[in-house]
Amino acid sequence: MTASASLPDLAHLLPDLHQLVEIESPSGNAQAIARVMDVVEGWARALGAEVEHLSGGTRSFLFGLQDRPALILTHADTVWPHGTLETMPFRVEGDRLYGPGTYDMKAGIVSAIHALRALHTSGGWPAGGVQLLITPDEETGSHSSRAHIEAAARQARAVLVVEPPVADSHALKTGRKGVGSFVLTLHGVASHAGNKPEEGASAVAEAARLIPAIHALARPDAGTNVSVGLIRGGSAVNVIPARCVLEVDVRAGSVAEGERVTAGMHALTAGDPRVRLELTGGLNRPPFERGPQTMALYARAQALATGLGFQLTEEVVGGGSDGNFTAPLSPTLDGLGAPGDGAHAAHEHVRLDRWPLHVALLTGLLREV
Ligand SMILES: [Zn+2]
Repeated sequence: MTASASLPDLAHLLPDLHQLVEIESPSGNAQAIARVMDVVEGWARALGAEVEHLSGGTRSFLFGLQDRPALILTHADTVWPHGTLETMPFRVEGDRLYGPGTYDMKAGIVSAIHALRALHTSGGWPAGGVQLLITPDEETGSHSSRAHIEAAARQARAVLVVEPPVADSHALKTGRKGVGSFVLTLHGVASHAGNKPEEGASAVAEAARLIPAIHALARPDAGTNVSVGLIRGGSAVNVIPARCVLEVDVRAGSVAEGERVTAGMHALTAGDPRVRLELTGGLNRPPFERGPQTMALYARAQALATGLGFQLTEEVVGGGSDGNFTAPLSPTLDGLGAPGDGAHAAHEHVRLDRWPLHVALLTGLLREV
């Protein structure tokens, strides 16, 4: 642990995280999310940031002279509704710090700010500068922020995503599956189930026939999963159902796989010609493929971790992030936030014994990329 002297002090990290977690910021609540961003903006201004408020609630903070800056991606929203703190308070138990949005990803925001502070106090910004982007809607698909994320990524020399590392590990995320969802609505013909069943065309029966065909689009060996996760159909037990809706979750292992599944969904046909199919949706986040540029960034991170005295690993994961948008545009490394476990779960927590190491890692990467 030769580099331990350069590790940030938890006594500095914790109050900042506490401040962010105490502002509950569920996706969709623009005012609450703006309050989180106001705090981050105060910290960024204290470091001399050039601040820009973008459409849809995204904010950009620029540090240093900008020429293809390193881009740090963060989001201020969480999956937790207001009032969660009453049952899931911010609290430390041993090496674990619990609370809604701690691991995903308010500790990542604090990591970024502390890495920036470390750069600021130790000789200034890296050549090219740094851009910190904070978005309001990652947990619900980044609909308002995607264009800003992509525009920033096109200018960036590298993108560092401070989503958390893989649960309960030191593993960074070097790839993510593409994420999509489809809504398949089946329009059948209603009829009396007792008197005139032959005049009806059951949307539910047709859906039952189609579900195996939809699941057959999965190719686990190619990293592709397809699941009908929701089904809603029928109006009453004695009516031949006129309508059934299937919602389908898709995880695509590659760009080609995403295209194959999309084509397969569009090729579905009803066995009963009286049932009409209506398909909406598609791939929302493109696959973040584990490419050589990402692996070059990872190799630097790994060397830095070795210098800090811990062993870093990497994984391709099924869940999406805003890194899915940037990976096709700029070298992207994800999972650079705070280690812990329990994203979107009641035991969400950050590992306090590991967090300072990852802040030092992020600081080192910002110096080098
Ligand atoms: Zn997140």
